[in-house]
Amino acid sequence: MPELPEVETVVRDLRPALLGRTVLDVQYSRKKLRHPWQPRWNAQIRGLHITDLRRRGKWILVDCAGPTPSADPPLVRVHLGMTGQFTVATPHTPRPDHVHVIFQLDHGDELRFRDPRRFGGVTFFAHRSEVEAAMNAELGPEPLEIPVEYFRHSLRTSRRNLKAILLDQKTLAGVGNIYADEACFRARLHPGRRGHSLTPQECDRLRQAIETVIRRAIASRGSTIRDYIGGSGLRGQFQNELAVYGRTGEPCRVCQTPIACQRLAGRSSHFCPNCQR
Ligand SMILES: [Zn+2]
Repeated sequence: MPELPEVETVVRDLRPALLGRTVLDVQYSRKKLRHPWQPRWNAQIRGLHITDLRRRGKWILVDCAGPTPSADPPLVRVHLGMTGQFTVATPHTPRPDHVHVIFQLDHGDELRFRDPRRFGGVTFFAHRSEVEAAMNAELGPEPLEIPVEYFRHSLRTSRRNLKAILLDQKTLAGVGNIYADEACFRARLHPGRRGHSLTPQECDRLRQAIETVIRRAIASRGSTIRDYIGGSGLRGQFQNELAVYGRTGEPCRVCQTPIACQRLAGRSSHFCPNCQR
C-alpha cells in the first residue's frame, strides 16, 4: 500500500509534467472504485488549468483554476488506495488494463489513474475549502514536521501500543505499516510498547527515526512491494533497504537475531526481539 514516500514520489514526478496543463476532457470506467468519479463532474473539470500538485498525508491534491480567478478554486483529490497508479502518458503509450479515470490534457497527453484492486479513486471538489478543513481535522502533522512537545504528549498520554499510535492518521499523517515498523526498529523500540511507558528521550528518538526513515525512503523513490510505481512509471528502491518489514525469520542487520512478526493493531508487525525493547 502506498504510504507517504510513495505518494510524495508520484507528486514530485508529476509536478513538472502537469503544471500549467489544461484538462480538455475526462473518461472513466464503470467499475466501482472506493472513491468513484461522478458524471456530474465532467462539465466542471473541462477547461480547467492545473496550477499545482501537492501531497497531504497519503492524498494527492491537484490544484486547478478556471477562466476567472477565484479565492477558493477547484481541486482534484486522488487516493492511491492499495494499488493505485497515477501517471502521465502519451496517447501512443498502450493503455494497460485497470485504468479507471483518464484526463485528456492539451498536447494530446493523458493523465491516467490505474487501480487493479480499486481501493483508491479520484474526487472533484468545486472549491478547495470543501475538503481542506475536513482533511486537516482528520490528519495530524506531517512526519517531517512533527512538533517535539506535541509528539511527546501524544505518546505519553496514550495507552495504545506504538504501532497503533503511528498508524493513526490523526496523530501523524502518511505513516503506514512499512514505515511504522522501520521507524520503531531505528528507534530501538518494540512496536508493542505502550505509549505512556516511553520516556521523553524515547519519544524524541522515535520522532527522529520517523523523519530519517521517511527522508531516506523519499530519496529512494519509496518502496515497491506490489504494484506501486512513481508518476514517471519508475519503481521504488527502498524495499532493498528495509531493516525489518517483510523480513520475518531473516537475520537482523545489526545483531543477526531472526526478525519476528506479531499482529499489533490488526497489522503484521516486524521487529528484532533483541534490538527493540
Ligand atoms: Zn537486532
